[in-house]
Amino acid sequence: MPPPRTRIFKIIVIGDSGVGKTCLTYRFCAGKFPDKTEATIGVDFREKVIEIDGEKIKVQLWDTAGQERFRKSMVQHYYRNVHAVVFVYDVTNAASFRSLPAWIEECRQHALGQEVPRILVGNKCDLRHAAQVSTDVAQQFADAHSMPLFETSAKNPYGNDDGGRNNSDHVEAIF
Ligand code: GDP
Ligand code: MG
Repeated sequence: MPPPRTRIFKIIVIGDSGVGKTCLTYRFCAGKFPDKTEATIGVDFREKVIEIDGEKIKVQLWDTAGQERFRKSMVQHYYRNVHAVVFVYDVTNAASFRSLPAWIEECRQHALGQEVPRILVGNKCDLRHAAQVSTDVAQQFADAHSMPLFETSAKNPYGNDDGGRNNSDHVEAIF
């Protein structure tokens, strides 16, 4: 019997430019914070094979850049056959949090509503002292949109200085 085909699980990572989408996907796939990142041009694509209950699953992470020109031509392709959506904001950047409704709406327009698992990620919690978005406000938003909230840091996922809340919900747990 031929070996079973590896199932593919496509996750798209969405949010304003600079919130840390590339660093989060890099952290998940490479196990570390990148030494240097360049602004994503087009799509950053990474994958990692994980094993769940003895079955190998290929997790594909798609991280786009926000450029309008690119988005118009690529967006249909990007949203096709998606299994889960990760919305990312930067806890030190209130504007990136305010952008979330627009990102959620774009997803909805591509037929990715509540039937597709969606999660909300507040990144850069290593900079908690500079936070502009409180956990309470983010949690209310997550609840209103029926999404779980994970606060983390691509840079230092285990060492968030938030008194321990969600410390175990590190990057591995998100994807
Ligand atoms: P993207 O545009 O959403 O893909 O963002 P990038 O992953 O390129 O990150 C943008 C900038 O934020 C870079 O300078 C990263 O080094 C920085 N960055 C990303 N994640 C974190 C984090 O968790 N903590 C801190 N302090 N900086 C981060
Ligand atoms: Mg990027």
